[in-house]
Amino acid sequence: MLIQLKEDLYDHLVAYSRETFPEEACGVILGCPTEHEADVLYAATFFPLPNVAEQPTREFTIDPMDILPYLKPGPTPLIGLFHSHPSAPPIPSCQDLQTLWHTIPTHWILSLQHQTAPELQIYQIKKAASTEYRKLPFALGQ
Ligand SMILES: [Zn+2]
Repeated sequence: MLIQLKEDLYDHLVAYSRETFPEEACGVILGCPTEHEADVLYAATFFPLPNVAEQPTREFTIDPMDILPYLKPGPTPLIGLFHSHPSAPPIPSCQDLQTLWHTIPTHWILSLQHQTAPELQIYQIKKAASTEYRKLPFALGQ
């Protein structure tokens, strides 16, 4: 999957994340209504949402009621969930991986760890549907 985003969308993400610093910024990304190609997602618009976490400098929580209006099908579907990492690299935390919103196709993390060089990464989070198992080596003693 390739995600195409406009420069003004990227600029908006960076500007808003700097605005909410040192708290984590969060919000939703809506898709572009124009073209539909397999394996390409067009990101068009960012809508900031309040971070209602107890410790907003360390985590983010979005009130489901704030996301609901964006979940309805339409010409500009919800394609991404965005949040910033004010002082950590753009890698999903354990908590990020436990997201309620794993059915949203993309998860965006903007790191402000290096203030002058923000780093954006976009992920797909897949929850495993089944319990996994694998063989482990063992040794018989004497
Ligand atoms: Zn995170």
